[in-house]
Amino acid sequence: MSDDCIFCSIVAGDIPARVVAETDDALAFLDANPMARGHTLVIPKAHHQRVADLSREESRAVFDLVHDLAPRIEDAVDADAHTIGVNDGPDAGQEVPHAHVHVIPRFDGDGGGPIHVAAGERPDLGDDELDEIADAIGA
Ligand code: 5GP
Ligand code: ZN
Repeated sequence: MSDDCIFCSIVAGDIPARVVAETDDALAFLDANPMARGHTLVIPKAHHQRVADLSREESRAVFDLVHDLAPRIEDAVDADAHTIGVNDGPDAGQEVPHAHVHVIPRFDGDGGGPIHVAAGERPDLGDDELDEIADAIGA
């Protein structure tokens, strides 16, 4: 628990939230400023800023809850699809420094875009660079 973290305060029950699901290691609640009806945040109960900071068990708990909730959210708000994503770090737009997965219901003709709009200008990568990157990640 981090004293000045809003999501830790929600986990502790000190700040109210519309909780939609809870497990031993994860909590899901409606986003207070939703991008769409049913916009839900799924968080680890323990305070970690980045996805890679979670233990494997905590990561499983969070992503399993995303997996279980997505169809329930879709049914509840009669959505056609979902955008599921994480702003993983301040340079990716993370404002609350407690890891969270956004589950954003999408509707036919809602005017939104694919997750590709999240990144900046596309790099122009040749085969050699792609090979190098794949090797570096895989190493
Ligand atoms: P981020 O930019 O960090 O990925 O997104 C943080 C999200 O948390 C935003 O969508 C914002 O609306 C939501 N949020 C911020 N403060 C609160 C809060 O106190 N309660 C709830 N339920 N959501 C919050
Ligand atoms: Zn926290």
